Amino acid sequence: MNKKLCFVSCLVSTALICSSIPSAPASALPLMQGDLNGDFIINNTDVALLQDYLLGKNNIKSAYTALADVDGNGQIDSFDLTQLKNDINTHAGKIPGGTWIAVGDKGVRYYNFEKGSVIEENTGKTTSFTCSVKSNDIRFNKAVQSNSSHAVYSWREKDEVINLTWDDGYREALHLYSKEPINYSKLLSGTYISNKGLTYEFCGVNGCYKIKDGRRYDFEYSLKDNSIYMKFGGDGYVRKVGLTYVDSMHLSLKWEDGSVERLTLRKVEVKNGITYINGILIANKTYALPSTYNPGGLTSETQSAFNKMSADAYSSAGLSLRVCSGYRSYSYQSTLYNNYVRDRGQAAADTFSARPGHSEHQTGLAIDINNASGYFDNTPEAKWVEDNCWKYGFILRYPKGKQDITGYKYESWHVRYVGYPLSKEIHDSGLTLEEFLCIDSVYK
Ligand SMILES: [Zn+2]
Repeated sequence: MNKKLCFVSCLVSTALICSSIPSAPASALPLMQGDLNGDFIINNTDVALLQDYLLGKNNIKSAYTALADVDGNGQIDSFDLTQLKNDINTHAGKIPGGTWIAVGDKGVRYYNFEKGSVIEENTGKTTSFTCSVKSNDIRFNKAVQSNSSHAVYSWREKDEVINLTWDDGYREALHLYSKEPINYSKLLSGTYISNKGLTYEFCGVNGCYKIKDGRRYDFEYSLKDNSIYMKFGGDGYVRKVGLTYVDSMHLSLKWEDGSVERLTLRKVEVKNGITYINGILIANKTYALPSTYNPGGLTSETQSAFNKMSADAYSSAGLSLRVCSGYRSYSYQSTLYNNYVRDRGQAAADTFSARPGHSEHQTGLAIDINNASGYFDNTPEAKWVEDNCWKYGFILRYPKGKQDITGYKYESWHVRYVGYPLSKEIHDSGLTLEEFLCIDSVYK
């Protein structure tokens, strides 16, 4: 009896020591099956604990009892012991295949041990490495986690889980993300809105979707063979949904009934009163800039992209492109707009001139080329700009027939710098910026 009590108190003190490690909080990381002392590692200590338990020599701490059912058949018996030994021994020297995701205090990381890469989700930074595995150790040829190049390693192939405890104390619980190597543009995370009116949230391994009335459905997911496998709570039903990456901001899902749902990334940030949708600065009728926003002229990227475009138009087609109007300040736009309202009335003015704060020219990213009027339409210069501007990071911002969407009449002369390759994606989609981002352009 005394022995049992002592044993339990030892476990408690071990747990306290573990929780003082400055890393991902131990409580936040799930423990894997067979980790009977809760130290994040499955090894011979756990085998001995299970062995003694089966012989009636000790009790496993109640919090960890469920972890003793290693084979998951609902009973704790000698089969669990066999399974646990297998989990520890069969992976000696074997490098796991596929891409593994870790969600921790230091952000989300994607490991591919075979290919030798770890991708940081936030920055896209990729570190290449070679590694070797020996029973409970994984060693890297360089520091992968801060200053650590060595971790204690446990792998449960059945549950597709790997635990890493780095030399600096940081812990990571990895889940199989995809059986294939994955690159930065093919990660599935973030919030998406769909053309069926749903909002999806993906967080590496867990996700949910919300329908318009606020009901929410949670699922776990993994990616395999161009499909996303969504496992819903309750009945544990797994749905296999075809997944296509359309471009950097769009996915399409093909459901079991054959219907296709289009998803658009939705990341809205407001910094100093400026709205960025998926990182793109937006100024339209819905989204205004603060009156104080002044980039001091065209941004340097916009100016140099225009210079290159202008030089190429001249050398390849003998055409001359010049800036007719670039950056316009809030107060200048105010004068311009008020004059139009005075002369033509507000309703008419709103179809071709932006209210102050709503003009894309205030961003320093928009340029009117040569002649900001219908006289530019159908000129060789207009045709060349329409066909080629995407190669230089520009998009034709107010295309023909899209007034209801962009809020402005066709402007053959107005281009907006978004950078390459996004300009190519938008050009290839055939959509306006509003459609591409699923936003509107309406004064409210
Ligand atoms: Zn313009």
